[in-house]
Amino acid sequence: MDVLSVVGARPQFIKAFVVSRELRRDHDEILVHTGQHHDEELSDVFFEELGIPEPDHNLGIGSKSHTTQTAQMMTGLEALVDEYDPDVLFCYGDTNSTLAAAIVASKRDVKLAHVEVGLRSFNREMPEEMNRILTDHASDILFPPSERAVDNLEAEAISDGVYNVGDVMYDSLLWAREEGAKRSTIREDLGVENTEYLLATVHRPRNTDDRERLETILASLAADPRPVIFPAHPRTIDRLERYNILETAEEDLTLVDPVGYLDFVTLQARAEIIVTDSGGIQKEAFFLDVSCVTLREETEWPETVEAGGNVLVGADADAIGEALADPPQALSDAEPYGDGKAGEKIVQVLSELSE
Ligand code: UDP
Repeated sequence: MDVLSVVGARPQFIKAFVVSRELRRDHDEILVHTGQHHDEELSDVFFEELGIPEPDHNLGIGSKSHTTQTAQMMTGLEALVDEYDPDVLFCYGDTNSTLAAAIVASKRDVKLAHVEVGLRSFNREMPEEMNRILTDHASDILFPPSERAVDNLEAEAISDGVYNVGDVMYDSLLWAREEGAKRSTIREDLGVENTEYLLATVHRPRNTDDRERLETILASLAADPRPVIFPAHPRTIDRLERYNILETAEEDLTLVDPVGYLDFVTLQARAEIIVTDSGGIQKEAFFLDVSCVTLREETEWPETVEAGGNVLVGADADAIGEALADPPQALSDAEPYGDGKAGEKIVQVLSELSE
């Protein structure tokens, strides 16, 4: 089959890598980067270390209002659909790049395959939630990561073309854990080789764009006696500067630029506790059996909370403090996200559909 794959943001490079490496054995793939993430540390580094080929096209659409960004991506993608006439358009996750791909596929009558479908936080104020709902309803071939995701789709009357293959991020994590152990020196570089440390990330607008929430989170992290490694997203740095608290953050935490995937997984694997508002990182903590404290009120990965290793604390200082003092522990060895062979299974489905 001729496949046109659309990626644009950090977690999508990681997800697409898993599918691309299998897909390219038997199918032709054109890889399109929308340019949604364009910084070296949020984009280029992933192509280098994951060993995926450079994108065939980069639409170069950077930060804009959500509407303008999505519209410009649609215009760029439509021209490429005209040029390549693909059989299937692949999209990943829940960003504006995902939604743009979904709308173009549906308007141009190209089959849409969506990887990581059926997730719901049930919070429609999150921009990602609307992207998920709209894309899921426009999809023809759907790859949910869990039974819960299948149930969420069924609750919205989506049942055709659904293949529960497990989570592609489990595949990538297994690879990165092994590669990171061989190649990453990040713990030595940051001086935490033999130290108990926390690993924290904050990048959701709900936390960064609300000064009080961000300050509470940083103060709660600073109150912990252990070193806190904090790879800071460009949006977070921007807000710290704007709120005039960058210096304090630098004094209290080990603030570093976002690190590559192998380094990040290596840091996660040995962290005492991971503190985050990221979706993917909650799950990676779960895969690595590291306690996770989630700085949100809800999650689209509820299995991680039910298993016991993840706790939702929002931006509440007391709740964060309690969770850091008494971190959540996984009670079950449930494997709700498959067996780490999602990439293979996705391509198998595609091959069967093309027969
Ligand atoms: N990640 C990374 N370097 C970092 C922080 C995160 O490689 O400095 C990886 C992380 O391992 C995970 C993904 O980026 O696979 C999560 O991306 P992000 O938090 O941006 O997005 P979300 O999952 O919340 O959509």
